[in-house]
Amino acid sequence: MASSFHCLIFDLDDTLYPFNTGIATACKKNIEDFLIEKCGFPKTQAPILRTELFKTYGSTLAGLRALGYDIKADDYHGFVHGRLPYDRIKQDFQLRRLLLSIPQRKIIFTNSDMIHATKALSRLGLEGCFEKIICFETMNPNLPKATRPNEFPILLKPSMDAMRIALDVADVDPRHTLFLDDNIRNIAAGKSLGLRTVLVGKTVKSKEADYVVESVHNLVQVIPEIWMNTADSDGDDEMMNRSRNEVDSIHMTAAAAVGA
Ligand SMILES: [Mg+2]
Repeated sequence: MASSFHCLIFDLDDTLYPFNTGIATACKKNIEDFLIEKCGFPKTQAPILRTELFKTYGSTLAGLRALGYDIKADDYHGFVHGRLPYDRIKQDFQLRRLLLSIPQRKIIFTNSDMIHATKALSRLGLEGCFEKIICFETMNPNLPKATRPNEFPILLKPSMDAMRIALDVADVDPRHTLFLDDNIRNIAAGKSLGLRTVLVGKTVKSKEADYVVESVHNLVQVIPEIWMNTADSDGDDEMMNRSRNEVDSIHMTAAAAVGA
């Protein structure tokens, strides 16, 4: 049987590196500092406001702009990401080998801006592993042209519009695309658009997840079919001619590549 996956779309933060690096916690703290220092909200309200804006608008920036605050995306990202402890993201040679052993197209799809995505991927040592990066700027190309804060509502995962832009830019057939993300809402949105979904960083599958992996490093064990022959994914005839041993050896090669 040939792999039914033609492309893998990976989230970045808390998917390609674990939540416990402390980056996510530092990011939340920076957002709260932004609300206090740049928007003048009281210290006590910042954590509640951050949570509420995230829940209602998808991000603090999206919420602030929707509410009429003229916050430039670059200024916000510069503040929130610029002071992150990037040194806590370590080179991951094992993940690099795993990604390079995957023969299909590989794309990053993150709500973060391009500067953060590039920096995080570089810290991980994953430069050159992905065909393209779909990020904040991809989903919000008109934002710099906005003449008022709420002219172009900010689009981010898990909004359907953001997901559709990503699928369009990636130029993929969702039925043959594996979508990996640590966020349950993003996974649900992906599933509703027909993607095959992998919930990352959890031990229990959410309703909309086809697979769950505690770490992205476990893909070989959990979804070995990624490494099945992809030369002619609809042509099962070709694979019918392949011996079972040959398919097994593909698995073993992939497993060996990641030291599994
Ligand atoms: Mg994430």
